[in-house]
Amino acid sequence: MSVVANRLVQVLGAVLPGDGPKALHEPEFAGNEWAYTKECIDSGWVSSAGKFVEEFEARLAQYTGARWAVAVVNGTAALHIAISLAGVRRDEEVLIPALTFVATANAVAHCGASPHFLDSEPSALGLDPAALHEHLARIAERSGGGWRNRLTGRRLAAIVPMHALGHPVDMPSLLEVAGRYQLPVIEDAAESLGSTLGGRHTGTFGLAGTLSFNGNKIVTTGGGGAILTNDAEFARHARHLTTTAKLPHAWRFLHDEVAYNYRLPNLNAALGCAQLERLPDMLARKRRLAAAYRNRLAAEPAMQFVDEPPESASNFWLNAVRLEVDDVEGRDDIIGALVAAGYHCRPLWTLMHRLPMFQGCARAPLPVAEKLEKTVIKLPSSAKLVQN
Ligand SMILES: *Cc1c(COP(=O)(O)O)cnc(C)c1O
Repeated sequence: MSVVANRLVQVLGAVLPGDGPKALHEPEFAGNEWAYTKECIDSGWVSSAGKFVEEFEARLAQYTGARWAVAVVNGTAALHIAISLAGVRRDEEVLIPALTFVATANAVAHCGASPHFLDSEPSALGLDPAALHEHLARIAERSGGGWRNRLTGRRLAAIVPMHALGHPVDMPSLLEVAGRYQLPVIEDAAESLGSTLGGRHTGTFGLAGTLSFNGNKIVTTGGGGAILTNDAEFARHARHLTTTAKLPHAWRFLHDEVAYNYRLPNLNAALGCAQLERLPDMLARKRRLAAAYRNRLAAEPAMQFVDEPPESASNFWLNAVRLEVDDVEGRDDIIGALVAAGYHCRPLWTLMHRLPMFQGCARAPLPVAEKLEKTVIKLPSSAKLVQN
């Protein structure tokens, strides 16, 4: 085992005592999950109507401070609808980070548009507003009422920052650049439920934000997602498009546009209501785990804890460490050794422009994202690794 892998195994052993493998992120069901799902099943309302969906939406809005929350089947569907409602059309370009989970890019493609990849900010991993500004100054030109990419001729239709691993992007700076180029902002907050910047929740800065409740996220509904917005018309249209655009009527089937069956089932929402009750406790334990990693890694000159940015409180969905390695092979040797030792560490995502379906897409220079891709490793981060 390499010296670095060996040191990291010791750090992990000190932070995560006890036997048995340590998963990257596991769900935790320790509250009303059984009670609410049983109540849901006993009521007979397990599908796309029922009181838990509305309750879940109300609790999400209340918790995040968004005026509206629309619950949907998963985070990708939430992104698809939100990006589409931002006015993105076929053959346009949507600016997204190259360093993200594939769902962000897929949702753009689901709208018939092309992702246009941007570089990351080195410490918090998300979009870098300064690099974005420089890039747009080079490639954007006025066209009609908006802006287009002068290299491809396509309209620049929206921007989708992603709060990577839970760490908030510098939204005030990003909104300023987006405003100059008349770009609506949809935040991919799939990983950052509970994270705040200047006291405000991620997902509530832009025109809309999206959440995911997949099994590996901080709160899970099995599968699920939500759209957050302060815009009443956006919320109304999102709800309509995700429920087959059915017009209200006691028994007639009238639908007024091509739409989707994206509504979150009541059974999943029941689980979500119980999970949200425990979110503050899970956040507190994840914060303690992050502090333990931070303290241990501070003594390691060749390793750097990926910390929350200033003025922010991250949910520390996934803790991560930055190492001095030269290439992906070096990184993977270390991960292999950690996994063999029972610590289910993982790399960041393969950058989107390397994936076969997105290789031809427009992109900014990506020096920071390329460096992060090979030097950052995600560490076991479940709230259940820390007991009260
Ligand atoms: C999890 C995730 C999503 C949405 O994923 P679903 O599995 O569709 O709920 C979107 N973007 C990012 C960055 C994610 O991590």
